[in-house]
Amino acid sequence: MKHTLLTVAIAGVLATGASVTTPSASSGQAGAVQAQVAPDPIRELVGHLELERYKATLQGLAQFGDRQQGTKRNRDAVDWIEAQLKSYGCANTERITYMYPSPEASDPAAVARQGGAGRAGAGGAAEAGGGQRAGGGGQRVAGAAPATPPSPPVPGSPEWVRRSREGGSTQYGFRGRTGVNNNLESQANEKLRELNAEPTSPGERQQVFCTKVGVTRPQEMYIIGAHMDGLGKGEAVNDDGSGTALVMEIARIMHMPGVTSDVSIRFILWNNEESGLNGAWAYVNQRVELQGIESPRGSGRYPEPKWLGMIQHDMMMWDHGMPRADGTLNPDQRPEADVNIEFQSASRFVDQSMKLAFAFKAAADAYTTHYPAAVGPHMTNTDSRPFQDRVAAISLRENERGMQTGAGWNPHWHQPTDLFATFSDRDFLLGLNAAQVTLSGVARLAGVKAVK
Ligand SMILES: [Zn+2]
Repeated sequence: MKHTLLTVAIAGVLATGASVTTPSASSGQAGAVQAQVAPDPIRELVGHLELERYKATLQGLAQFGDRQQGTKRNRDAVDWIEAQLKSYGCANTERITYMYPSPEASDPAAVARQGGAGRAGAGGAAEAGGGQRAGGGGQRVAGAAPATPPSPPVPGSPEWVRRSREGGSTQYGFRGRTGVNNNLESQANEKLRELNAEPTSPGERQQVFCTKVGVTRPQEMYIIGAHMDGLGKGEAVNDDGSGTALVMEIARIMHMPGVTSDVSIRFILWNNEESGLNGAWAYVNQRVELQGIESPRGSGRYPEPKWLGMIQHDMMMWDHGMPRADGTLNPDQRPEADVNIEFQSASRFVDQSMKLAFAFKAAADAYTTHYPAAVGPHMTNTDSRPFQDRVAAISLRENERGMQTGAGWNPHWHQPTDLFATFSDRDFLLGLNAAQVTLSGVARLAGVKAVK
């Protein structure tokens, strides 16, 4: 079900799609050298996504360590991202300002359940995985294999629940241990220890966005997002520098000379995802009522165009498969590596979200160069959550968030090893491939055109 494209051998530099048969070209005679078709502007734009540029943007983000919310390294990263967006020509940058913790930056339903403002934000750590087991991820001592393999526990039994939480065998196979590293000393690199030393403190937060204003329907927009804050005392390169760089690269390409879109497209780099999606909640709570309102009246300007869809990117590069039964991990990418597009089957906008997911899957089938895309129904634990009952919302990821990421498929998740140096070009290319999906998917839906 996941293999719809040839996986082309990895080249150091991304091939721009020359070896991929396009739907328009394949309608001609077999063996025809070049069908006489009008140049496809979307293919041309996708061709501007370059592996080396994606990696350079990731390295730019890595200079701010794990960018944990509520620290100077986080604020410096917001400034850097804003300067980058301006340099791409996405010059109308704005910031959302909110307090953390606060009801404004929380799920209104949760605030109501907890009995009002006093408790808001208190439970935020749950979104980040909850576990505070320092240095726990994927570090197992060799030579400790049991003499007889343990029998799997009965699903739902106390033992099953314990193993589901602590690592072990479930009906989903072997689970790796997951958790958040908060121990600075577990970072081997001295410079990174220094960089990540400041602890988080409550207070004002900011997050930045910029907007490509639509030519024919500026009052409507798609929102493309990723979270720029991280955890783990490393460089938070995969979670979620990989999504942040993806959004920034698409913003850059959409602002190349001659590129226009019918509807508006907003590029936003969320803050406070790891503390409970608080930046995204602040955005929704502050702006949901402003949608589609022209301001000032008669100006043709729409501070908050009507939301057509929200596309989130969170952990884009690591698809090495499930932990082995002995607890060790595959050092290489698995042959089935893919881009996981998820919608939430329990959301109010399930039908619209499912359609959006399959529109992106179709774009992936037409435009990606190295990896296929798969659609799944369990979008969860990321910044598209606050949108899912208000508009079509999907997330793109390296794995299924609920079953695979949750089962410990990524040993670097929230760990000091989430570093630029940890990842190979195959991993980076999976992230770039996801950028191809979103660039082509949103270009189709937003009516993007490129004039030379
Ligand atoms: Zn994340």
